[in-house]
Amino acid sequence: MIVAKRKPIDEIKEMLKPYQKILILGCGSCTAVCMAGGEKEAGLLTTELQMMFELSKDSKQIDTITVLRQCDREYIEEVKNKLLGYDAILSIACGVGVQFTAEVLGGDKILLPGLNTAFLGATIEPGTWMERCLACGDCILDEYGGICPITMCSKSLLNGPCGGHEKGKCEVERTRDCGWVLIYERLKKLGKLELIKKIKPPKNYGAVKRPDKIIHEAYQTVTTEKQKN
Ligand code: SF4
Ligand code: SF4
Repeated sequence: MIVAKRKPIDEIKEMLKPYQKILILGCGSCTAVCMAGGEKEAGLLTTELQMMFELSKDSKQIDTITVLRQCDREYIEEVKNKLLGYDAILSIACGVGVQFTAEVLGGDKILLPGLNTAFLGATIEPGTWMERCLACGDCILDEYGGICPITMCSKSLLNGPCGGHEKGKCEVERTRDCGWVLIYERLKKLGKLELIKKIKPPKNYGAVKRPDKIIHEAYQTVTTEKQKN
């Protein structure tokens, strides 16, 4: 899932200063799971901001709505008319949600980011998430025993380790496991240690065009027909 963290409250307050009628827009999917942007967090943030602005004698209207997903047109469309009534919308979805909500609303509404989108990660224990994938678009996990060298190594080395690891820890951050020690241990466990000796060429990041686009095969004919008309 996409993992994000709320921006510092003072940064949010500063962004909202010029606007009078403000909506805090929560997202009920990834950012709800990582406890940064769901309905509960949207409610808490709204109350906190209302109190802050009240204390500084700045009377603003701050409301809140949470949709199931800000990255899906249908959920934005459902509340579109309400959203259009605000001077500014502070979205607490990931960066995709912020951009896509602005697009669906027609591009002439102020959309502000309430979160810092951090990474694609997994829940390693309740309340703790850790990065696992950088969405590079050309997955090479099969060559590394299922451990991503791009995200799990601090230097994203495709041929490692760098020589700076100590007692299994990374030289960039000594509290973190060295990604390449993890790759080595996993390949050993899988009986595929010979893979570590293979020299990998630099990754061709240009092979994936950004922004990337995927059309499911079941929808390809429909899309081609639409493009023809
Ligand atoms: S190689 Fe790593 S960054 Fe690329 S898709 Fe696979 S897990 Fe994600
Ligand atoms: S110590 Fe390991 S994880 Fe850290 S940069 Fe070097 S190879 Fe990568």
